[in-house]
Amino acid sequence: MSSTPAHPDPAELSSATVAVTAGRPPRQPDGPTNAPIVMASTYHAGGDVGYGRYGNPTWQMFEATVGALEGGVATSFASGMAATAAVLELVPHGGTVVAQAQAYYGTISLLREHERAGRLRVRPVDLTDVASARDALDGADMIWAESPTNPLLLVVDLPALMSAARKAGAIGVVDNTFATPILSRPLEAGAAVVVHSATKYLSGHSDLLLGAAVADDPALTERLVAHRSTHGGVPGAFEAWLALRGLRTLHVRMQRAQANAATLAERLAGHRAVTRVRYPGSGAMVSMEVAGDAATADRVCAGTAIWVSATSLGGVESSLERRRRWPGESTDVPETLVRLAVGIEDVDDLWADLSAALAEAVS
Ligand SMILES: *Cc1c(COP(=O)(O)O)cnc(C)c1O
Repeated sequence: MSSTPAHPDPAELSSATVAVTAGRPPRQPDGPTNAPIVMASTYHAGGDVGYGRYGNPTWQMFEATVGALEGGVATSFASGMAATAAVLELVPHGGTVVAQAQAYYGTISLLREHERAGRLRVRPVDLTDVASARDALDGADMIWAESPTNPLLLVVDLPALMSAARKAGAIGVVDNTFATPILSRPLEAGAAVVVHSATKYLSGHSDLLLGAAVADDPALTERLVAHRSTHGGVPGAFEAWLALRGLRTLHVRMQRAQANAATLAERLAGHRAVTRVRYPGSGAMVSMEVAGDAATADRVCAGTAIWVSATSLGGVESSLERRRRWPGESTDVPETLVRLAVGIEDVDDLWADLSAALAEAVS
């Protein structure tokens, strides 16, 4: 009888392989090849977990896979915002957070709430300007970066910012939701914590909410897990299982969505109804500014048959939205900006639908 070969170290494998092979049950005769969905609020006494708020085998499989992809240890949460809230608790009372001024508005809203309550001080900075970020880091406890940003798609210099954070003794955090570990691995760039809204690309099918925080320092992971256990922002086992199922195809979904986005960005740049295209050169998000006013941009969003007029991103289906329809969105975002979350449909079908809606709205 030959023994089972040892599983290779994820660090030596491509992320495409890791996404498929990590977080599986042990290989044994008649053992399942897939993670089981463990629906249990409690466990037989005598072990390390004991109760469903402290751990779940299905979460662990999802966490093992996200951790292997990011190069750290993942802790899953009920949503991206639950992960964000837990990570902000790493800052002591009265501490200072340098935050990307153009970050996801849910993150900015939560920071503002902490500020109003006297819990944190917030220094909003345009992190594309590394020199300003360095100045702002003086005396700070944490820096919160996002790259590319939502919805302006600004890209920041993560290695420069994260090394500045380490020098300043601040915890470097990167929201990697838009880039995914396929395009960016912030821990390798020196970040201490990576945050994900796994609701988006990681799960990929717009059918659940889930979050994750990935750290490479066991002391930070311990605090994140303790926060989840006491505050209770736990994922459901079924959500973790669905997200893990989605993760298996992350690489091919990203490949296809990125190819579609590159083609559409180029075609949009030549469309007479579009005044500006923001596209960072990789990833599957494209923002366009439509000729005319907010009402024109609203007509574009209402006028597509394949593209879904909806918020969120990262699903297999393409969606679009005028971001300023949300009262909380930053006024830095133009009224006519339509954010495109490009999916994996046929690119010519997507183009025909979108270009017809543009022509109709602007005519
Ligand atoms: C959606 C999103 C979040 C929040 O995640 P939820 O899963 O909706 O709680 C955080 N950051 C970014 C960049 C997002 O797009």
